[in-house]
Amino acid sequence: MARTLGAKCRQCRREGEKLFLKGGRCKSDKCILNKRDYAPGQHGQGKKRKGKASNYAVQLREKQKTKRIYGLLERQFKNYFKKAEQTKGVTGETLLSFLEMRLDNIIYRARFAESRAKARQLVGHRFVKVNGHIVNIPSFLIKEGDEIIMFGTDAQIKMIKDTVKLLEDRSVPEWLEVADDTLKIKVKRLPVRADVGLPIEENLIVELYSK
Ligand code: SF4
Repeated sequence: MARTLGAKCRQCRREGEKLFLKGGRCKSDKCILNKRDYAPGQHGQGKKRKGKASNYAVQLREKQKTKRIYGLLERQFKNYFKKAEQTKGVTGETLLSFLEMRLDNIIYRARFAESRAKARQLVGHRFVKVNGHIVNIPSFLIKEGDEIIMFGTDAQIKMIKDTVKLLEDRSVPEWLEVADDTLKIKVKRLPVRADVGLPIEENLIVELYSK
């Protein structure tokens, strides 16, 4: 399936904030946002993002930012929104919970991959079993009580363990129980809004799609 979401750093520049799409590099001095504060493109320097934007523009940017954080295309994102609308609860919060429940996000949250894009590759390359079965669908939604384990050749397992070591200062969310030595994850409970920990104003996304 097409996944032309553009260069990762360019996406951060478009949103004017760090979306942490490249793992370790994002926290280093190499992050381009440490040097530039304007939108990409030849007219970018003229677009001062601090100016007053319309409500619609603000809502649109929030949706685009969220889509980019989770690496989704518009159609996929809108499907999550529709599913959230049809689910009991606060739509914006339910939307974020669904995004967090994606298998690729869980692999990322467990620190088995530097970025969600790399987590998606691990899933796609059949490195992941859920409840004993290989699952190669990054959008697979986990359930409470699911057990996830990484597997592969010794070299592949070492690569993942090296990543865990590299990311050991990143905290694992409370709703997951992660065993670094065996590369196992247990889903203790489903995520709620407070677990998301991202600067997203989901009410703006709800307002946008409700027009
Ligand atoms: Fe975004 Fe990371 Fe690139 Fe910085 S290094 S612009 S945070 S993707």
